[in-house]
Amino acid sequence: MSEQKQGDVKTWLVTGCAGFIGSHIIEELLRRGQRVVGLDNFETGKQANIDTVVAAVGPDRAKHFVFETCDIRNRVQCASIVGQHRPDIILHQAALGSVPRSIDDPLNSHDVNVDGFMNMLDAARTGGVRRFVYASSSSVYGDIEDSHKVESRLGALLSPYAATKRVNEVYAQVYGQNYDVETVGLRYFNVFGPRQDPDGPYAAVIPRWLAALVDSKESVIYGDGTTSRDFCFVANVVQANIAAGLAPSASAAINTFVNVACGDTTSLTDLWLMLRDEMAAVRGVAKESIPMVRYEPFRSGDIKHSCANIDLARSALGYEPKYSVTEGIRVLVRGSL
Ligand code: NAD
Repeated sequence: MSEQKQGDVKTWLVTGCAGFIGSHIIEELLRRGQRVVGLDNFETGKQANIDTVVAAVGPDRAKHFVFETCDIRNRVQCASIVGQHRPDIILHQAALGSVPRSIDDPLNSHDVNVDGFMNMLDAARTGGVRRFVYASSSSVYGDIEDSHKVESRLGALLSPYAATKRVNEVYAQVYGQNYDVETVGLRYFNVFGPRQDPDGPYAAVIPRWLAALVDSKESVIYGDGTTSRDFCFVANVVQANIAAGLAPSASAAINTFVNVACGDTTSLTDLWLMLRDEMAAVRGVAKESIPMVRYEPFRSGDIKHSCANIDLARSALGYEPKYSVTEGIRVLVRGSL
């Protein structure tokens, strides 16, 4: 990862800062003594996430944080916030996540993930922001069956959510070619960690399972449990964002897209067992005393297997996942009790 020099303070605008990943990004930036502007409309994010960050970094660091309530669908307000704060770097995280949500309500996903994205990207252009880093997704690989997904090979898209993320990449690349704004798309694979929302119909699996385990309830796996994912602890994603924000203009990551993952897969059943075993160890109870999982039909739009090749992230960004899945699960479970 690019190391910041002592005293090298920049202004970072982080959209979606009240959400899961965004709140971890602002926490790390503030810990590093950076100036941070956070933006959110609390659609899925929480004020409590911001409060937790402010308390964790302490008052000296927190005074370098400014929060703006903003809906990224409001083009005028996006441009106004960028014009007012003049960030050096934008880390764009705000979006409506979840494949099933996009299948239920494609237009809303489009409005936020495409129109809202364009409003922020164009605010970067008109506001003279040099670097625009944004959250893309492994969903852009669609139905491709390569064992390790490489950035240049895409399959047919499987959901409106994947389409919105792919459109982001196309526009970011075109802006990078035509305007004075350098873009980096980060294709996150399945991210997990503290502060990930366990509630609602569109919650990701790990926080849902964790909440069920904490309450000693049964968990649900969609499919037969052999579905596998490249699960990535959130600190690795934070590292990739900061590295992308600071990468030199000559970096091979500029104006293209980079996988952010661990480069390894875990099946859903194995992952659930890791969570359960860690929970049993922390609580000092027998594993068998914890309720098992129930298997339900596979959900449409989901990909069966997903694993990243992370060579480009390593070479272009100096990215190296510091947390394996096992280490991430340990931190998550120990912090949840
Ligand atoms: P999250 O829902 O916790 O965070 C998204 C944030 O964006 C929330 O705080 C929400 O309030 C905000 N937001 C939504 N609509 C907005 C709007 N109209 N205006 C302003 N803010 C708005 O989700 P997350 O998991 O932290 O995801 C962050 C980004 O990473 C998203 O772009 C998501 O698509 C992408 N991503 C996440 C994963 C994952 O595994 N979590 C995987 C791939 C990509």
